[in-house]
Amino acid sequence: MTRVLLVATTTGYQTRSFGDAAERLGVELVFATDRCHAIDDPWRDAAIPIRFHDEDGSVEAVLADASSRPIDGVLAVGDRPTVIAARVAAGLGLPWHSPAGAATARNKLRTRERLRDAGLAVPWFVPFSITPDPAAISYHPLASHGGLSYPCVVKPLALSGSRGVMRADDAESLGAAVARLQRLMRSPEVRAERDGAHDLALAEGFIPGREYAVEAVLHHGAIHPLAIFEKPDPLNGPFFEETIYVTPPQLTTDAQAAILSAVSAAASAIGLRHGPIHAECRLNAAGAFVLEVAARPIGGLCSRALRFEKRSPPVFEEDEVRLYSLEELLLSHALGESPAAWTREPRAAGVMMIPIPQRGVFRGVAGVEEARQVAHVEDVRVTAKTDQVLVPLPEGSSYLGFIFARAERAADVVHALRQAHARLRFAIDAEIAVRPSA
Ligand code: ADP
Repeated sequence: MTRVLLVATTTGYQTRSFGDAAERLGVELVFATDRCHAIDDPWRDAAIPIRFHDEDGSVEAVLADASSRPIDGVLAVGDRPTVIAARVAAGLGLPWHSPAGAATARNKLRTRERLRDAGLAVPWFVPFSITPDPAAISYHPLASHGGLSYPCVVKPLALSGSRGVMRADDAESLGAAVARLQRLMRSPEVRAERDGAHDLALAEGFIPGREYAVEAVLHHGAIHPLAIFEKPDPLNGPFFEETIYVTPPQLTTDAQAAILSAVSAAASAIGLRHGPIHAECRLNAAGAFVLEVAARPIGGLCSRALRFEKRSPPVFEEDEVRLYSLEELLLSHALGESPAAWTREPRAAGVMMIPIPQRGVFRGVAGVEEARQVAHVEDVRVTAKTDQVLVPLPEGSSYLGFIFARAERAADVVHALRQAHARLRFAIDAEIAVRPSA
């Protein structure tokens, strides 16, 4: 049986989607999972225990396992395991993103350097150290940096999902943003990642414009676009919460070509060449600015917004066209199939990542059924758990849930997502501070 290795952050939604896809394709999945997060084993399949912060040990463990259970393809779910997946692929001689490319894609400073060196559009950028003493901020090198201009953005080098990304419009808000970023980077959760990249952060020019996300597969260096998502809610800060993704975008063919060519050039400058990519870019009068290219597919439940048709050898006319999931496409690609035969279904589709409106304890949600009744809405999934402490951006890293819609026109998808969201009523209680008794 053909086997694909899935290096995964958690046994989360996307891992389950890969499990379903593997079953449909008759492929066996071998998991390599960070032991800290391996809470359950949904398929009772012995996962290879690894530690994401110990790349050498993890790669060794997977390669040792592969000598008795041969692996035919590799995939990574989430940002952190992308380098381990690339090193395993290199060790097994499987075509994939290069380990150096995957490492660059994980690091926002190295990404900026590669894009600049390749002559691609980049804002000004300055790395700075996350000093241990917030009082030292007024003496911070950034405060006296000549090249700094406003508005600007500060961000960690190796977190994702817009965590820690903040806009500053003047010296005062810059100081506040840097202090806030320092607190986040000192939190036990971030420190537990033991990532050396967390000692530095980046300040860079704010790029105005509309934002788009590109989902694509690179096949031996050539880009095969799967979808360009438009983000219809303007993302101007001070924090950058993702909400609606809709495809196709309302863009001219030329503008779409400009985005794809910028993403393709950026991926190649970074060193990515074979496997899924997810890129974010901004479009304005000066052109397409690639913010980042991740060496992995779109995360979480969002991939459900994408369905694909596959041109197969002649079929009987009465055969129904089967729609495939992104995970089925990626598994097939990991096993060597060209993505050329796959195209996204013709209908418009979108997803809303339901933002966390305020910090507090999640008590429940009303209106889910009403939201599901909205025309074009396919599903409403509340993923927050009762009594969970909700943390909004810039510190948080989760959503309340997801709404999915499909229609003939993108505008109807966006309308449906907003209508459905308006019908949801979330109960969030203030956190009660617990003081240790004297
Ligand atoms: P992450 O990997 O955490 O998503 P990004 O660098 O992609 O981090 O930034 C997250 C979001 O913040 C982007 O999608 C964008 O909306 C906003 N952003 C980041 N950098 C800039 C910038 N230089 N100019 C304007 N917006 C930015």
